[in-house]
Amino acid sequence: MGLRLAGKMEQWQELEQKLFMRTTRRLPVTLVRGQGARVWDTDGKEYLDFVGGWAVNSLGHCHPVVVKALMEQAKTLIQASNQFYTIPQVQLAKLLVDNSCLDRVFFCNSGAEANEGAMKLARRYGKLCLNGAYEIITTYGSFHGRTLATVAATGQDKFQQPYIPLPDGFVNVEYNNIEAIKAATTNRTCAVMVEPIQGEGGVNVPDDNYLKKIRAWCDETGILLILDEIQTGVGRIGSLFAYEQYGVEPDIMTLAKGLGSGVPIGVFLAKERASVFAPGEHGSTYGGNPLVCAAGLATLKFIIDNDIPGKVKKVGHYFVGGLEKLKAKFGFISDVRGRGLLLAVGFADDMAEEVVLTCLKEGLLVNQVKPNALRFMPPLIITEKDVDEALGILKTVFTRRL
Ligand SMILES: *Cc1c(COP(=O)(O)O)cnc(C)c1O
Repeated sequence: MGLRLAGKMEQWQELEQKLFMRTTRRLPVTLVRGQGARVWDTDGKEYLDFVGGWAVNSLGHCHPVVVKALMEQAKTLIQASNQFYTIPQVQLAKLLVDNSCLDRVFFCNSGAEANEGAMKLARRYGKLCLNGAYEIITTYGSFHGRTLATVAATGQDKFQQPYIPLPDGFVNVEYNNIEAIKAATTNRTCAVMVEPIQGEGGVNVPDDNYLKKIRAWCDETGILLILDEIQTGVGRIGSLFAYEQYGVEPDIMTLAKGLGSGVPIGVFLAKERASVFAPGEHGSTYGGNPLVCAAGLATLKFIIDNDIPGKVKKVGHYFVGGLEKLKAKFGFISDVRGRGLLLAVGFADDMAEEVVLTCLKEGLLVNQVKPNALRFMPPLIITEKDVDEALGILKTVFTRRL
């Protein structure tokens, strides 16, 4: 499959070292091909992929419905600009609105851009409906993106320190603590923004009633609730959207990662009353272009029609069961956390990097979400057999560490 054409692994890795800004510490693998939950490197070595393009390849690599949609749309119309109506974006908007509690959409190209737009919308709402309120309350350990405003929203020192001074109007408070949100709310507050489960922050699951308490507080004070479902949305935790499991409805929701099964797409959605943009107040050149929306439509339709969220719930339970067995066997595993197929195991010490590298040698891709924790975010279409294989490799790797 063109592997010889791909050249030696070292050749690409040396060139990368020379040409790229040093922002990313890559693992020593050059991937050339993917199919389902498997990927192959330049040497033809196969890996079971439990990173899934960073929680992006929801239908796995090169799923036939996504490939077909992309190929047909690529032959038809790729980009037209938003000065014109195009069909795939309207179809995707309808599917999103019909299957969520939100009423209107804005398409963009990434998660950060979706959050940036959602926060701009909340500020417009504050200006128009809350006497000019503009502050957004977010939480420690959150991750909302890499633009300046989303970095200010991201309550983690390591992302903020290099860029101080950051844009004004963000207050970071403790996660899973409703009192902290209440104490930070003033007449300047226009919104609270949280992830239903913190992904990048370490797969941190809040108490079951945390979102309900935030919802009640937002209702009481009139401020907006923004849910960043960029990682938790589109089936990842065992329901189409995470908010369904927590018994709340957001005023604004952001999606990206899993929505396009690999193509760069983001969207923020809002309830009618919060959809306060006027013409010209926000925009995007590529946002919602026919090519990415065709892929998004194929992905979302497949996920809904095949009850992928229900399957995620089952296979996720199965995976957790296996991880719990490993925990019982290996004393250095401190906890198993997460929901659906957004899972993590915590370690008593900082051994995650070593485990990631050993898994890589054994043919399993996993993510070091923290120095002392591994994250699993595989394609949503994995089977119990894939899970057994991953658990087997983890067991081998952990046994060596005993
Ligand atoms: C990945 C992520 C983002 C940022 O998305 P990008 O596409 O990298 O800009 C924002 N919020 C959450 C919860 C994420 O997981």
